[in-house]
Amino acid sequence: MPNLLPELEAERSQILRQFTTLGDLRTGSICAVARRCGKPTCHCAKPQDPGHDPQIRLTRKVEGKTVAESFSSPSAWRKAQSEIDEYHRLQKLSAQLIAVNEKICKHRPLESEGSPWTPEEKKRLRRSMRRSPAK
Ligand SMILES: [Zn+2]
Repeated sequence: MPNLLPELEAERSQILRQFTTLGDLRTGSICAVARRCGKPTCHCAKPQDPGHDPQIRLTRKVEGKTVAESFSSPSAWRKAQSEIDEYHRLQKLSAQLIAVNEKICKHRPLESEGSPWTPEEKKRLRRSMRRSPAK
């Protein structure tokens, strides 16, 4: 089997370098909500009407509740959009980092093969089993 470790480790450092390029980021998502003025005689009161200019809103979860914010200006919206894009980049990078690390763990050879458990290790193992009960 070819030794893939150097290649995988290079890939990992490349991903880690990209983390340092992340800028301002925030969670949330932006959506456009059709606005209805509420006047019964207005065209927007008809069911098939697209409504008035859509209102752009940022929604995000705060302590389990969804909070909505609207934007004071197009530039506030563009700023938030790029911050959210940056957050998505972070998520993608973390997923890549985890994936490459899992491959590295699988390919990393043991430092030494065949030495039996020492009494000290057995004790530690028993302690850790008590801490995390089997699911
Ligand atoms: Zn209206």
